[in-house]
Amino acid sequence: MPASSHGDSDGPTRVDVDWYSLDESCSHEEFLAVARVYAREVVAEYDLSASVSDLTWEVSTRAKRRAGAVKYRDGDPVSVTLTWAHFANRGWAATAATIRHELIHVHLLNEHGDASHGERFCRLAERLHTHVHCDRFVPPEWWVVCTDCGARLARYRQSKLVTDPAQYRCGDCGGAFRVERNDDCDAVGDD
Ligand SMILES: [Zn+2]
Ligand SMILES: [Zn+2]
Repeated sequence: MPASSHGDSDGPTRVDVDWYSLDESCSHEEFLAVARVYAREVVAEYDLSASVSDLTWEVSTRAKRRAGAVKYRDGDPVSVTLTWAHFANRGWAATAATIRHELIHVHLLNEHGDASHGERFCRLAERLHTHVHCDRFVPPEWWVVCTDCGARLARYRQSKLVTDPAQYRCGDCGGAFRVERNDDCDAVGDD
């Protein structure tokens, strides 16, 4: 990702991914320290309502499919978890994009109690140059499954197919659909 330019400054500033030099030889503590510094810069730059120091920042060495996660309780964001394997495989720039993604969740939870990848999320994701769901590490929020042939359709938003699957038939076999909430979604409520 190219560094964005900020005014007349020559070279990257702390909100630019390129300001940091970090590889997988660092410790988890160093990694999280850098993640927090970067997160504070992003919060300030984009005027997000997120308190970096009030959140618990964690590394997951077990997560495989998701790049990061926000956990929330009673609608309030509690922690941000970053996946070590994602950092090791894809590098700091990918992790930085994940941090921006998770900070959008924190912001929208604080402002609107919204944990979805809906319209608000999409608008902010564009501003913050991060992915909504194009990254394979970010799983869909729903699976629409054909009860006959087992075809699985990923759905990231609460479309008509998700809310009223009985209105639709499988395009492959004409079977009926059922909808499963995907528990792998990265904004995880604890209510
Ligand atoms: Zn089918
Ligand atoms: Zn997300």
